[in-house]
Parts: sequence; structure tokens; C-alpha cells
Amino acid sequence: MMTNENGNYTGKVAFVTGAANGIGRATALAFAREGANVVVADISEQGNQETVRMIEKLGKKAIAVRCDVTQTEDVKAALAKTIEAFGRLDFAFNNAGIEPKKPAPTAEYEEEEWNRIVDTNLRGVFLCMKYEIPLILKQGGGAIVNTSSGAGIIGIKGSPAYTAAKHGVIGLTKSAALDYAAQNIRVNAVCPGYINTPMMDRFTGGTSEGRAKVIAEEPIGRMGKSEEIAEAVIWLCSDGAAFVIGHAMVIDGGQTVQ
Ligand code: NAP
Repeated sequence: MMTNENGNYTGKVAFVTGAANGIGRATALAFAREGANVVVADISEQGNQETVRMIEKLGKKAIAVRCDVTQTEDVKAALAKTIEAFGRLDFAFNNAGIEPKKPAPTAEYEEEEWNRIVDTNLRGVFLCMKYEIPLILKQGGGAIVNTSSGAGIIGIKGSPAYTAAKHGVIGLTKSAALDYAAQNIRVNAVCPGYINTPMMDRFTGGTSEGRAKVIAEEPIGRMGKSEEIAEAVIWLCSDGAAFVIGHAMVIDGGQTVQ
């Protein structure tokens, strides 16, 4: 348990996007394990329900809300449901994201694909924060963690949109962190390396060759687990990280150290 004497998570409410799968699901479960009530927000309604069932099996409370983070009305409605169900918002993990369809050099990159990636991976994070922050301020503070990537730290050949969006998430995180540091909202980011999720299965084509190629880029010699990102998010939201503001935490098995 990461809870401290003040019961950092018990009775608190966590809103997690992209929570129907992968890193978001693992983090929703981790928030529940720590005692928070959880809002499972994702475009995948079936996946949302599965995550809620997993949380309920832990004897904890969660609700599922269908939310496309690129749609202002969805984000507003999901947060309204959060308040309706649990009466407050303390933590947000803005994690929903998509991978590019195929690599292409910048001059050959489709404008439509650029818009699709940046809309979800950067504008989606902005939209979520825009409507979460007033709710978090209402009860005097809380913490937000946004999902960037190793692609937010280094350039990725053939991936201009994803790389720009994930670098953008770090800039946005730092800017929002400064805006609200004095009002007791801490905003930070996580930068995962290659993590074994459904997104990674699509990226590798689910083949052993594809997986081996990815693992070869990881100094640690394996992919990361979603739970290893969840632990970082839980710590960044905890009182133990009270002095951590605008930080982009790299959790990547050494991938971007090389
Ligand atoms: P994932 O397995 O694909 O899970 C992401 C979830 O987000 C899916 O349930 C997906 O629904 C949902 N989603 C997609 N677009 C959405 C939208 N507009 N609104 C709400 N939900 C949406 O991905 P993951 O690997 O857990 O990745 C989570 C985050 O980590 C992403 O931001 C990703 O860029 C980042 N990341 C992942 C890795 C990695 O190696 N896995 C590395 C670095 C960073 P559908 O499945 O229905 O599309």
C-alpha cells in the first residue's frame, strides 16, 4: 500500500482514461487496490465493463463511462458522471492514446493521420485537464498524471505525429504544473518504454519476430509490464511525491538511456 498516515487514497476518486485496456486498466486496478473509487473511462464499452468487474472483484468501487477524449462533450459528460457517482475528483490519469497506422517520413506523412494522432494523444490530454482541473480545485487540490512515452524524450524515425504529440504532452504537463502548483494540484507525466499491451501486440504484429525486434531495443532485455507504469502513477499521485511537480518520469528499461 502506498497510503500514508493520512490515508492518501481512501475515500478519494481517480479518473482514468484508456482504462479498458493495457496501462490504463492496470492503473485503474492499482488505484482501486490503494483504496480509491475509480472512474473507468474509455471508448471501449466492453473493455470498460471488464475493468469494472475486475475492480469489483477486489471489493472496491468503480463506474464505467464511455468517453472519447477527442470529444469535448464526452469529456464533460464523463466528469459530470464522476461527480454524480462519487461527489469529487482527486486524481486523473490522462492516458488514452493511439499508435500510428504505419511509419512514414515527415514529407510523406498523411495530414489526416497527423491530425488523428495529435487529436487523441495531445489535444485529448489538454481537453481532459481543462475539465478535470476545476473539479480538483473545488476540493482544494489533487494530482494529475499524463501519459507521454519514450517518444516524448527522443525522436522516432518515421513517426513525426506520435513523437510530436508525446513531446507535446511533456510541454503541456510542465505548463499546467506551473499554472496550478500554488493551488495544490501537482501535474506530472510518465514516459513508458515498450510495454506489453494490446497496443504493443498491434505494433509488433503479434509475431515472435516483431516482439524480438522490440525487445532488442530494450537494454533490460524484456518488455515492461503495465503494472510497472501503474506503480509509478500511484507514487506520483501519493503524498510521497508531494514535492514532485512537472516531472516526466521515464520508466523504460533503459531504452532512452542509450
Ligand atoms: P492500448 O492497449 O491500446 O489501450 C489504450 C486504450 O485507450 C484502449 O482501450 C483504447 O480503446 C483507448 N482509446 C483509444 N482512443 C481513445 C479515445 N479517443 N478516447 C478514449 N479512449 C481511447 O494502449 P496502451 O499500450 O495501454 O497505451 C496507453 C498509453 O500509453 C497511450 O497513450 C500510449 O501512447 C502510451 N504508451 C504506450 C506504450 C506501449 O509500449 N504500450 C509505450 C509508450 C507510451 P480501443 O482499444 O478501442 O482503441
